[in-house]
Amino acid sequence: MAETLNPFEIVQKQIKAACDKLGLEDSVYEVLKNPERVLEVSIPVKMDDGTTKTFIGYRSQHSTVLGPAKGGVRFHPDVTMDEVKALSAWMTFKCSVVGIPYGGGKGGVRCNPKELSKGELERLARGYFRAISPIVGPEKDIPAPDVYTNAQVMAWFMDEFSQLKGYYTPGVVTGKPIILGGSLGRSEATARGAMFTIREAANKIGLDLKKATVAIQGFGNAGSVAARLLSELGCKIVAVNDSQGGAYNPEGMDPMALNEYKKQNKTVKGFPGSKDITGEELLELDVDILVPAALENVITSKNAANIKAKIVGEAANGPTTPEADEILYKKGILVIPDILCNAGGVTVSYFEWVQNLMNFYWTEEEVNSRLEQIMVKAFNEVYSMHKEHGVKMREAAYMVAIKRIAEGLKLRGRI
Ligand code: GLU
Repeated sequence: MAETLNPFEIVQKQIKAACDKLGLEDSVYEVLKNPERVLEVSIPVKMDDGTTKTFIGYRSQHSTVLGPAKGGVRFHPDVTMDEVKALSAWMTFKCSVVGIPYGGGKGGVRCNPKELSKGELERLARGYFRAISPIVGPEKDIPAPDVYTNAQVMAWFMDEFSQLKGYYTPGVVTGKPIILGGSLGRSEATARGAMFTIREAANKIGLDLKKATVAIQGFGNAGSVAARLLSELGCKIVAVNDSQGGAYNPEGMDPMALNEYKKQNKTVKGFPGSKDITGEELLELDVDILVPAALENVITSKNAANIKAKIVGEAANGPTTPEADEILYKKGILVIPDILCNAGGVTVSYFEWVQNLMNFYWTEEEVNSRLEQIMVKAFNEVYSMHKEHGVKMREAAYMVAIKRIAEGLKLRGRI
């Protein structure tokens, strides 16, 4: 059978496999295989040239069994309803695996933000949030940033919702600017959480991080900060890339200088002292740690056999197909699955929401130390499940997550 790249089919397979391994009754899979609710909206936007263009957006709420739906909104030309549905399911399991009191949701707008002016982007962001406003709110569903959305977009979302309500409602979104109720540490949280799990994984396999080499695919919010945090642990960043191209230097590259270069040139390609490298070549480099930090389906049955890293830390959502996962497992590569590796972002989103509801704000040290506790505990729970049941780390992560949700479903009388 051909390898499916439909993320929704992939997540359904993952749920089924974990339910079977846990020996759960069929009803658990029956409930979890589809999102509870999916909304499609059409967003007319007045463009700068006077024309009106309509964009399509979605919000999927996969589960609210253990808490309100939670998850980001991506603005990307390839957004589809199936992708958003899959991403919302991954959020359910991500929140459950780290034990924060949320279900899962995700949103997306099919657009190319790089081709929009700031004014057009603002009108699109506001239009989208107005359109999904009946189903979101601090107790219902709390959006956040994802691919190509940022704190500014969250500020527009929050403002639009607050205007509709008639009062300041910061708890409706997370990932906001600090002045509008954002949390210290949130912008770095996805990468910081990934760094903690990579550090734990290295510890388990006896890899000395001071001698480790790292390749990072994607140099956005997750990838660029991961480069810095891993190099602070002593790792050598030998390759990075973005949608325009890549930079490779076996001697290692300074993440701060890379950041500066990217700011000026809009890409890491051509970074002084580096050689150009394609995305495919980067993934297959002979490095200790590989961090996919961009989009879905980059490690597939076509390249998995050529991957040489000892640890794959999935900062992106869904970077590895199930077929590729099997190949990596057989090769003895330790994969830190996305729902665990990148859960730091939503964990600090949870802290942000708690601070908004309490109207009492924490220091960055407090945020980071609570994040570390949660990530280390979750990593070890998944690692124990992986060892005890002789299953892949990804299956173990789903098993930890689904066990909790199944218990919630039973106690609520839903199954
Ligand atoms: N978009 C991020 C993710 O995929 C963060 C979600 C959130 O903070 O709610 O985990």
